[in-house]
Parts: sequence; structure tokens; C-alpha cells
Amino acid sequence: MSRKSTAHTKLDFGKSGKQTGFVYIPQSPHNDAWGAVPIPMAIIANGDGPTVILQGGNHGDEYEGPITIGELIRDLDPGEVQGRIICLPAINVPAVNAGRRVSPVDGLNMNRTFPGDPAGTITQQISAFVNDQILPLGDAFLDLHSGGSSLDILPSAIIEPAPDPEHHRRNAAAVLAFGAPLVVVIDNLGEARTSTAASVRAGLTTVGTEMAGRGTVSLDALAICRRGARNVLAHLGVLEPQGPAPERPETVLTIPGPPGYVYSPTDGVFEGFHSLGSEVRAGQEAGRVHHLTDPFHPPETLYYGAGGILYGRRQPGRVEPGNCCAVVAAPYEGDLP
Ligand code: CA
Repeated sequence: MSRKSTAHTKLDFGKSGKQTGFVYIPQSPHNDAWGAVPIPMAIIANGDGPTVILQGGNHGDEYEGPITIGELIRDLDPGEVQGRIICLPAINVPAVNAGRRVSPVDGLNMNRTFPGDPAGTITQQISAFVNDQILPLGDAFLDLHSGGSSLDILPSAIIEPAPDPEHHRRNAAAVLAFGAPLVVVIDNLGEARTSTAASVRAGLTTVGTEMAGRGTVSLDALAICRRGARNVLAHLGVLEPQGPAPERPETVLTIPGPPGYVYSPTDGVFEGFHSLGSEVRAGQEAGRVHHLTDPFHPPETLYYGAGGILYGRRQPGRVEPGNCCAVVAAPYEGDLP
């Protein structure tokens, strides 16, 4: 089913060489009656080969991916490319400009809006543009995330599970080729509204990342991300390899469903007991939530629901009921290439 979009661009997806410019999605707020949100895009194409889509800025407070894609846009010469790279380093422009996870325009989390709606709010229009006009052009899709302001995450490359076993192995092979110190299978509890879930539905080889977080730029994660994006492009045959294929991690991890997440049951300030990468056991104390203005009331203790390593950790101290305080990853037992 084709859905009519109002997105438009002067860039030509069929042209060779390097093109830079914008996709415009009309947006009509109080101070700009016939304006548009300009989404930066670059197309670098040469000869025959696969089309790889690089997306960053899905969440506006995650920076390693957008920096990496911006560098590739400036540094890559079309002569180095065999195929086509479509670069969208700041896809959710309003959120990127605000440095926020969700769009300040409509309050939506872009990564919970796929397949989007070309007649919807601005975030829904952006995800519909990606879903309807960009994914059908691609053979592979990389969505470069970090943990955002509220989480710190061990830098890792992410396998989005695919229902078809061959597709799943193709995704896993590309993610392993990234060369991140950790590889984690994450299905977001079956969430279908993410861009990587949309990419899998469209049949593309799909690679995700979680590059640290805390709303800052991690130098370690940025180095991993820079190397990893080029490693995947080499794995897909779009760039020449710059050295031997990276070593794969000894174990691949996964988040073992709801028990992998530790949520706060109450308002207060969370004291986490372990640093990222610590080995933890199911039933072990994860931390406690202090009631600072009710010091006569003891803190609430939180427990891990699964054993493994501490993979993600809440960054702000303040918590409300339901806030994610800790995430555990455990060995993945499924099929791998
Ligand atoms: Ca994210």
C-alpha cells in the first residue's frame, strides 16, 4: 500500500557521486506558516553494490552515531564506495536540536512511531518518510543509538531478531562484523514500532547500537562507533576493509525479558549498588530508593530479577514509580552465524 507523503528533496537517489542537502517535511507552526523541517541527508554512490542506510539522531540526546555519520559524509570519497550509502545523521531534527529523547514538537518518541503516518504529527511524518521512502531503497540499515540522558549502557552492537532464520543470521553476521566489545540481542520486549523492527519487516540486514549514554559524548564509545560503522560497510562490500575482520566477543548476550529490567516501585532517589559490567545474580539486591524528605521511613530495596552482567544503569538519581533503574544482560542461547 503506498501512502502519499509530503516529504520532498532535490537530492537524486539514482545519481552517482556525493550529494548533500536536505529532505523537507512541511511543518506549519505559529511563526512559520508554510515552513518545513529540514532533515540533513547525504547520498554517496559509485558503481554497483548494495545500498546501506545510516541513521542517527532517532533520539535527540544520543550523539556518537550522528557524529560518526557526519564524519563519514565529510570524509568519504565516492571513489572509495562500491554501491550507495544514504546518510541520515540527524533524522529527528526537532529532537536533535533540543538535545532530547522525544520531539519537543509533538512529545513523541520517534522510535515508538513506526511505521509512522504521512498525515500524522511531525514525528509520525518523519518515521513514515523513513519507512515508506528510505527503507525500500536499502539492502542494509544501521540505526546508531546510545543510552540517552537517562541511561548509561555498555557500548555494544545490537541484533534485532528476525523471524526468518536466514534473515536473523544475516543480521547477526553484520552486527558481529561491527566489532563492538559486546553484542546483545534486544527485542525491546517485542516492540514493533522501532526503526530496526521496521527495517527487519522490510527485509533489510539490520544493525543497531547502544553507545554508552548519559546525554554526553563518550570518547571510548565514539571510537567504537567510528570503527564499527566502517567495519559493517566493509562487511557489506561497500568499503574496502581497513584491516583484518574484528574479533568477535566470546559470548553474545540478550536481555532476558521483563526479569532483565529493574524498575523503581516508588518516588525517591536511587542508589545503585553495582557498576556497569558487574556480574549480578537473580534475587540479589540491586540498590535502594531513598526518601530524602521522609528520612524516618527506611529506603525500599530493589532486587535483580535475572542473573548476568549489569548492562544498563539509570543516570539521574531521581526516580518515579516505573522508572528503569538497571538492565541485566545474560548469555544468548539462540542461533548465531
Ligand atoms: Ca536510544
